[in-house]
Amino acid sequence: MNLKEFLLDDSIKNRTLKSVYQLIHEQGPISKVELLQMTKLKQTTLVRMLEELIEAKMIYESGFGKSSGGRPPVLYKIVPNRSNLIGIDISRTHITVMILDLTFTVIEKHSFPMSNTHTPNFVIQEIIRIIQDMMENHNLSIYEIIGIGIGSVGPIDRKEGRILTPESFPAQGWHNVSIVKQLKEAFPVKIVLENGANTAAIGEHWKTQNDNKHMLYTISGVGLRCGMLMNGKVVQNNTGDASSFGHMIIDMNGRNCSCGKQGCLLAYISYDAMIKRLTEIVQAGSHTVILDWVHGNMEKITFQHLVDAAKLEDPVLNELLKETAIYYGIGIANIINTLHPEHVILSGPLLFEHKTYFNEVVEQAKKYIYPYEEQKVTFSKGILKEDAVAVGAAIYAFQSFFD
Ligand SMILES: [Zn+2]
Repeated sequence: MNLKEFLLDDSIKNRTLKSVYQLIHEQGPISKVELLQMTKLKQTTLVRMLEELIEAKMIYESGFGKSSGGRPPVLYKIVPNRSNLIGIDISRTHITVMILDLTFTVIEKHSFPMSNTHTPNFVIQEIIRIIQDMMENHNLSIYEIIGIGIGSVGPIDRKEGRILTPESFPAQGWHNVSIVKQLKEAFPVKIVLENGANTAAIGEHWKTQNDNKHMLYTISGVGLRCGMLMNGKVVQNNTGDASSFGHMIIDMNGRNCSCGKQGCLLAYISYDAMIKRLTEIVQAGSHTVILDWVHGNMEKITFQHLVDAAKLEDPVLNELLKETAIYYGIGIANIINTLHPEHVILSGPLLFEHKTYFNEVVEQAKKYIYPYEEQKVTFSKGILKEDAVAVGAAIYAFQSFFD
């Protein structure tokens, strides 16, 4: 039996078998007794199903568990390389494409930065080429790819598989991009599209063994994207837009935002906003290492310069981050006060690269969380870091076979 056909077979007869496979996937290594308790199946039925799954090389006997007096129980696990998944991260700064096995371990990945020449067509052709190369490297045919998950900047149309009208892409043409349709022509497999902030949350949820059922995942960079899990399930808003959080007003008479309004959070914490503020600081007489890198031409500063200066603990950038952390903390606290997550992941290159920026944002947020003592919200940078969106997208694609 082909795994892809098995996963796509939604007949009543196959559904129970799929749920046993899913349990072994999630909980393995797992014993027959544990499976009996969880599935409430008759022992003879379960034994027959386990034999069938072993015969089809979808699961295997991975060893023995602890004995409770008699013979130690046989443990079952899924066969990880029975098939593969592709995960794709589409952001305004970079594209990441990866191939994963069925335990969601990354086998190979490639990333490239986005520029003003990276139109949708160009990017999609690059993605296709990378996937084909990776399949060749690992000797995989299309029958060994069960699905592709895309985590993208929103808003998106999940049903039609389209990226709608995302803001601030560096190249032209990122409107109504039928990405699923175009990829499907090259790879006729199940392809799902979800907001990248949500897929990142899915990825972290899996990696933390399903702790943190109520989780907020934020990605800061060009924009601020927020994904949310409630009861372990991703919250899918109507438009698949996760960027609107950045346009919450934190000062009604504040700085001008790219959206035309005043005082949006984004006008204080986005890369563009930080570059603008850095220009003001430099014009007032301070010196930053970035100035040397761009030979004094402030218009040449890019987000990568900010990230590189953060690594070096440049004093002017340190000051800028301290100031930015206040606004960021207020924004995050506002979201926490609305959605009440138990865990918050703050991700983004500056948070990863700068030693204290993350701590400063957290300290600021704690001042405004109401009431902090009772919410007991915890913060981290996540486990998957820059891989979170693509890994989570692949997991989302896999999970879509069981809905
Ligand atoms: Zn705005």
